[in-house]
Amino acid sequence: MTHEFDLITLGAGSGGVAASRRAALHGAKVAIVEGRRVGGTCVLRGCVPKKLLMYAAQHGDAFAEARGYGWTVGETAFDMARWQASKSAETARLEGIYRQMLAGAGVTLVEGWARIAGPHTVVVGDRTLTARHILVATGAAPVTDSIPGIEHCATSDDLLDLAALPDRAAIVGGGYIAVEFAAMLARLGVQVALHYRDRLPLRGFDEMLRTACAAALQAAGVQLHPGAAPRRIERSGTSLLLELGDERIVAFPWVLNATGRRPNTAGLGLALDARGAVQVDAGLQTSVPGVWAIGDVTDRKNLTPVAIAEGRALADTLFGSTPRTVDLSRVASAVFTLPPMASVGPSEDEAVRAGHTVQVFETEFRPMRQAFVGGQERTRMKLLVDAHDDRVLAVHMVGTDAPEIVQSLAVALTAGATKAHFDRTIAVHPTAAEEFVLMREPVRTVAPPAATPAARLS
Ligand code: NDP
Repeated sequence: MTHEFDLITLGAGSGGVAASRRAALHGAKVAIVEGRRVGGTCVLRGCVPKKLLMYAAQHGDAFAEARGYGWTVGETAFDMARWQASKSAETARLEGIYRQMLAGAGVTLVEGWARIAGPHTVVVGDRTLTARHILVATGAAPVTDSIPGIEHCATSDDLLDLAALPDRAAIVGGGYIAVEFAAMLARLGVQVALHYRDRLPLRGFDEMLRTACAAALQAAGVQLHPGAAPRRIERSGTSLLLELGDERIVAFPWVLNATGRRPNTAGLGLALDARGAVQVDAGLQTSVPGVWAIGDVTDRKNLTPVAIAEGRALADTLFGSTPRTVDLSRVASAVFTLPPMASVGPSEDEAVRAGHTVQVFETEFRPMRQAFVGGQERTRMKLLVDAHDDRVLAVHMVGTDAPEIVQSLAVALTAGATKAHFDRTIAVHPTAAEEFVLMREPVRTVAPPAATPAARLS
């Protein structure tokens, strides 16, 4: 049976665009369907505008620091409307580039909402498209049913479109979005209360990062409320009332719902797992032969570079001569709090639970730039080393430039670097990163409980 296209991609976000362009490069005839703007969450509502807001927030610290470096700084004020206008212009520029890249690769852009009508058939409005392969790259959206009444709260999408910031805000949740926006809003003059249900933010991260995150947020003026996620939220006039577990009710003019994101699966007709994500096998095939899925809609590692890597690998497999899969066992990631944090490899607990005897190397210091102006911000670094074969299992860091530093060290870990390689590396001085090659003695060695099976991390 002949089809109009070789590939129809649903969703023109980072993953879908990367897969479509790579497939077209291999000579495939490709259509990409998008119901909103081209660019997806990362470019339009996530990573990019978030980081632009982070840069704005960093200036709050920079003005204060500049005085310590001899500058006279006049009155400063942040104007969200001006940031907003510049951000909208920048995301429009990036959307234009994405559209050009698709057109340049010969990919047909079909604007509208897609429904999968059969293994090779996609319906968009009154148009029926057919293809040998269908790729689902529809991403995820904020959950709006995690807590009764949470639908009254703003999401990160709404926050990034505000023309003015509230004076006071509550943030519900303790994950990536909650802590990043708490750190930013506090520096932009908002009084922030962070309500989360665990004892520390960032469940699943290394304990060092979680503790440092809480301390840094507190130092920035964020009120932390661990174990105090609301049971219910109600609207009352212009306020939102958060009913806490201890019967207390607190009112805020503005509340951010940062309780997670859920895959966009409406109209797909595919098998979903218990969390509502499209199930895929190791080769990214869904329950329907010829229908594939990548990125956040599969809810595994919800990070833009993962979706891009999966999209390219799938296109190479289906249309190129280099079939391959993506190894998700050691994906580096960053949390853009202030200071930022970044990790590659397991947390200390995870490494020990996986059966490793772990040598833990740690260092903590006040960075030179901060110490000079009497700042109290601290940089913390941690290396986890397998005591049996000296392999560096993980790198964790909180401090200025952590994401940039950890990205480079991730290459070393991918290459199988040992602690001896780190020790032989000559430092670049004076930098913070040099501390990673200057750690001499472990602060502790942690063995797994005797009963732990030797299911070692690869
Ligand atoms: P996360 O999954 O990171 O965090 C969700 C938070 O909501 C957790 O703290 C969770 O608590 C809490 N939560 C969930 N349900 C409830 C509930 N019913 N009551 C109270 N609290 C609840 O989601 P985010 O929305 O922050 O981010 C979504 C994804 O986007 C991330 O997983 C990440 O993959 C990606 N992202 C990546 C960024 C980056 O790379 N820098 C930045 C932003 C997002 P608990 O921990 O107790 O379960």
